[in-house]
Amino acid sequence: MADKVIAVADHRYRASAPLIPARLDAPTGVLLDTLKRPLRDLRISVTDRCNFRCSYCMPKEVFDRDYAFLPQSSLLTFEEIVRVARLFVAHGVGKIRLTGGEPLLRRDLERLVAMLAELRGADGMPLDLTLTTNGSILERKAAALKAAGLGRVTVSLDAIDDRIFRRMNDADFPVADVLRGIDAAERAGLGPIKVNMVVKRGTNDEQILPMARHFRGRDLALRFIEYMDVGATNGWRMDEVLPSSEVVRRIGEAFALEPLPPAAPGETAERWRYAERGVAGEIGTISSVSHAFCGDCNRARLSTEGKLFLCLFASRGHDLRALVRGGASDAEIAAAIRPIWEQRADRYSELRGRAEAGDGERRVEMHYIGG
Ligand code: SAM
Repeated sequence: MADKVIAVADHRYRASAPLIPARLDAPTGVLLDTLKRPLRDLRISVTDRCNFRCSYCMPKEVFDRDYAFLPQSSLLTFEEIVRVARLFVAHGVGKIRLTGGEPLLRRDLERLVAMLAELRGADGMPLDLTLTTNGSILERKAAALKAAGLGRVTVSLDAIDDRIFRRMNDADFPVADVLRGIDAAERAGLGPIKVNMVVKRGTNDEQILPMARHFRGRDLALRFIEYMDVGATNGWRMDEVLPSSEVVRRIGEAFALEPLPPAAPGETAERWRYAERGVAGEIGTISSVSHAFCGDCNRARLSTEGKLFLCLFASRGHDLRALVRGGASDAEIAAAIRPIWEQRADRYSELRGRAEAGDGERRVEMHYIGG
C-alpha cells in the first residue's frame, strides 16, 4: 500500500499534512530523534489570544485591534486536543503543559484539564499536568483548576514594582492581581509553583533583586529567563539579553546561593537555593541564549490550530489537524507522528547566529505555538 496523503490549506505558517506510513506500527512508549532525544513533554497552546501586550512577545504595534486572531473554527476542540494528546502519551509523553496566548482566556478550560487528567502515561501513572499563565485571572480560577485535576502552575511575572510591571505588560495591568493569583494557587495546592521572569537588559533588569527579595522565604521557584529571539515581531537584539551568570552574580551579592542538582532529565533551568539555613525558596536560571540546551530538549509543541512544531524557533510545522479532521484513525495519526519525531534534528539555540541556524523563513510566534 502506498503512503496516504491528506491535503490541507494552511492558515499562516507553513505546515503540510504528515504522511501516513504504509505500516501502522503501534506506539511503544519510546520515540527517539536523530540526536537520541526522547519525546517526553508536550506543550499545547489553547488560544493565540492574550490580554497582555508584553513587548518581547506580542508587541502592541503588531498585535493591535486590527490583528486577525484565529477564528474559533480553526482552534482544536477539547475533544480533538485530548485525542491527539492521548497519542503523544502512547509515544512516551509524560508531561503536558497548557499554554498560549493566555490559556485561562480559553472558555471552560477546566473541562479540558479534567479530560487530560484522565489520561495515564505508558507506565500507568497520571501525567504531570501543568499550565503557564500570566496570572491575571488565576485568583478566580485556581480552585476550579485544582479540582479539575491540574497538578501545578507556572506564573509569568516580569516585575514586582507596579509601575514597571504595568509597563512590561503594556496593558496597564496591576501587579497586585497577579500576586493574589499566586497566593490563590498556593492555597489551592497547585505547587510547586514556579514564577518566571523574562529579563530584558535596560528594561526590567533592575527588578531582579527586588523580585528575589520579595519571594525569598517562600516555598516556590523564582526563575529568570534570558530574553529570546523567538518569532519575528519583537525586534530582538543581543545587547538586550542579560546573561544568567549576571543574574546569579547580582542575587549572590545580596544573598549567598548554593547550587542544586537538576530536578529532572531535560530540565531547562539551573537551580540554586539560599545558603542561609531554614530560608525557603529556590532561584533558577534559564539560559536559552548564553548556554543553549538543545542537547536534551524533549519537547514538542502543538499550536492552537493543531500544528505540531518541534522547536520554539521553527518556521514550519506538521498539520495534525488535517489528519484529525480528514478522517484518519488513531492508529494512522500515531504512525504519522513517529517519523516526524524520529527525523527531528533541529538545535536552533546551539546554532544561533550561524548560517545553518535557520532556513530564512519567518519564524513562528510564541503565542501561537505556546511558550
Ligand atoms: N500567557 C502565558 C504566560 O504569560 O505565561 C503563557 C504564554 S507565554 C508566551 C509563555 C512564556 O513565554 C512567558 O513566561 C513569557 O514571558 C515567555 N516569553 C515570551 N516571549 C519571550 C521571549 N522573547 N523571550 C523569553 N521568554 C519569552
